[in-house]
Amino acid sequence: MNYDQVFAKAIDRLHAEGRYRVFIDILRNKGQFPSARCFAGHNGPKPITVWCSNDYLAMAQHPAVVAAMEEALHDVGAGSGGTRNIGGNTHYHVALEAELADLHGKEAALLFTSGYVSNEATLATLAKLLPGCVIFSDELNHASMIAGIRNSGCEKQVFRHNDVAHLEELLAQADPDAPKLIAFESVYSMDGDVAPIAAFCDLADKYNALTFCDEVHAVGMYGARGGGVTERDGVADRVTIIEGTLGKAFGVMGGYIAASRNVVDVIRSYAPGFIFTTSLSPVLVAGVLASVRHLKASNAERDAQQAAAAKLKRMMADAGLPVLPSTTHIVPLMVGDPVRAKRISDILLAEYGIYVQPINFPTVPRGTERLRFTPGPMHDEAMTRELVDALVEVWDRLELRLAA
Ligand SMILES: *Cc1c(COP(=O)(O)O)cnc(C)c1O
Repeated sequence: MNYDQVFAKAIDRLHAEGRYRVFIDILRNKGQFPSARCFAGHNGPKPITVWCSNDYLAMAQHPAVVAAMEEALHDVGAGSGGTRNIGGNTHYHVALEAELADLHGKEAALLFTSGYVSNEATLATLAKLLPGCVIFSDELNHASMIAGIRNSGCEKQVFRHNDVAHLEELLAQADPDAPKLIAFESVYSMDGDVAPIAAFCDLADKYNALTFCDEVHAVGMYGARGGGVTERDGVADRVTIIEGTLGKAFGVMGGYIAASRNVVDVIRSYAPGFIFTTSLSPVLVAGVLASVRHLKASNAERDAQQAAAAKLKRMMADAGLPVLPSTTHIVPLMVGDPVRAKRISDILLAEYGIYVQPINFPTVPRGTERLRFTPGPMHDEAMTRELVDALVEVWDRLELRLAA
């Protein structure tokens, strides 16, 4: 067997479909969000405006976050020096878990090195502890949840996206005595729509199921204290496990779950993805603590983000651009073809200094390739105007249709 040939062919398939991934090389400019330097060209870095960051509220550059990280670095050094069990359980970790439990009104919380790991480790471990468990999973769930469900080895039932009636149909067909877990997200980050969480909880009560809600694209951004959609909708106490990231709106890195003391203790005690890995750097954790505390007390960032998103959606719609009717801060612009989506993104970057990454399969279904914009509190009127004007010119040049 010629191994290299097999790998080269696998890469060729991606090129042929137009979805070979190219990472652009950038440095963000602290204090000037959303501006950055791009190292794509040959004559030095070029200034660009970033329109696809998941640093939704610019907290990665917030002075309180940066100061907390500097202070921690100079106080305790760079790394934690161990797993949570062996030397790596710093005072920062303990404080952050208490802060996150409080944010969601839960008894306890548990940190992981990323949101991906928190989903994978929690779902796999929880379901393994429940022999015969059936997991009901929304068809658009994130890859990290799918990986956890697969690794649990349990039976999986996939329900149509946000479809309460379909979920109930599947629950009703399952063995009434089998343990059950319903897994879903609150805000879906590619379409920008929101799950009917209360209705899912009603079904969980009726069929005696646990619920797992990925709030990665909502924590920090929804609810009076940034507790996510479950806080906004007053259903946090009805969801068994709330999962979030510390790398998106909170601007740093890491993931977590918040739940009852019992559930957190069992995941802490049994999940390999929690146990056998070096804990997050205390410098990162100190930054997250400052970020979570700031966003608990301040609505300014959330309000400005919602205003920026509403403005961009309105301006795109007015220009006839095919913006999806998202009900959240996410602004998806439908293209429907991977080659064209990349072409538009390339032109925007090279000619307009506008950076938006094309989103292709398998992140979204084939035929729904798109550009996904994430306007935030620092995207002002002039930048938004410039973006929409550029998009209209590119749509024109590529002879794409604008609505009347
Ligand atoms: C980004 C993402 C994750 C993973 O979070 P990280 O902290 O980036 O690993 C989990 N779920 C969803 C829905 C995501 O979009």
